Amino acid sequence: MVELRGCDPPKNLDEYRDVFVYVQHKNGKIERGSQEMLGMGRELADKLEEKLVGIMVGSNLEKVADEAANYNCDTVIGIESPDLKSFSSVAFSHFISETVESYKPNIFLMSGTREGRDLVSRIAIRCNTGVAADCIELDADKQNRLLIAWRPSFGDKTIDQILCRKHRPQMITSRPGSYRLPEKNRRKDVKIDIRKVNVPDRMKTVKVLEFRPKEALDLTTAKTVVSGGLGLGKPEGFKYLEQLANELGGVVGASRPVVDLGWIPYDHQVGQTGRTVRPNLYVAAGISGKIQHLVGMKDSKFIVSINTDPDAEIVKYSDFYVHGNLYDVLPKLTEEISKRKS
Ligand code: FAD
Repeated sequence: MVELRGCDPPKNLDEYRDVFVYVQHKNGKIERGSQEMLGMGRELADKLEEKLVGIMVGSNLEKVADEAANYNCDTVIGIESPDLKSFSSVAFSHFISETVESYKPNIFLMSGTREGRDLVSRIAIRCNTGVAADCIELDADKQNRLLIAWRPSFGDKTIDQILCRKHRPQMITSRPGSYRLPEKNRRKDVKIDIRKVNVPDRMKTVKVLEFRPKEALDLTTAKTVVSGGLGLGKPEGFKYLEQLANELGGVVGASRPVVDLGWIPYDHQVGQTGRTVRPNLYVAAGISGKIQHLVGMKDSKFIVSINTDPDAEIVKYSDFYVHGNLYDVLPKLTEEISKRKS
């Protein structure tokens, strides 16, 4: 068990109530990890008999705040300004910290996206508390009003239990994709509180001139993921994975070394430092199944591995194993699926 601390002496903990969830959004849509945290936040709030508060920052928040209200929140707080249209860690963390300092939430959950990870440390420092990062499971101890968080450590070989007994709020980031998506449910008395703020000039450190969206790849919601690893031997091998993924209506994933080699962009990485996926079908071609990869895909419904080594770790986690060279197996598999479809 690990205990988190801030720097200053303990505060009056009884003043702190309710569960905050940071609601990250883009183009009017709530990011998946934030949806997961709203579901988890509701469970914790119910156990502690506290309220669930979604907090978001941006411009023109009316619609997206209304959408957040559908996730069983008691209150949605929106911090709104035309100057908050684009993400700014300085300005966002300033306004969130200000709200935390005045509201005094007991718990604050954030999805561990790049934005979440950027904000959480700034907020924790300003609010003088600790953070448990990358948590995969959460629970609450009602008697002591404590959040119990579990996070993997030592390359996922151990799971640590983390408590923050003496500082508030108790803050965590979650590993996106590790929690169930909640059912939508709108409370009759949900309160939407949009607060207009002025962003001081000193915080306008970045000006976004143009936004060019990259073709979106969302591994975490894909029903089929066809992944390749070092067994591909060369970047051109991804062509065969793409062909199979196209036949199956899925997307291409990868192990970390092939991402590090620059064979495929980081968005495709599955595992501890990549995405956590739970598709109906996960195909692992030329992947050994090291623990850092397994943690990102072992909860897939059906796992197929293709490997020349029958003793590879991935085989133990597979529902179906093909003993062979992926360059023989992948084209045949793609052709067979294509034939059966037509
Ligand atoms: P290898 O372990 O080299 O496996 C290649 C496999 O291909 C072997 O099983 C081999 O038998 C098979 N093979 C070879 N040729 C063929 C062929 N022609 N046909 C079929 N099979 C063949 N890794 C991740 O994947 N994701 C992460 O997020 C991640 N995060 C990490 C974080 C930390 C802190 C650390 C320390 C490591 C992390 N790693 C991660 C790296 C991880 O430890 C492994 O090194 C990595 O997963 C191995 O990748 P691989 O399976 O592609 O390669």
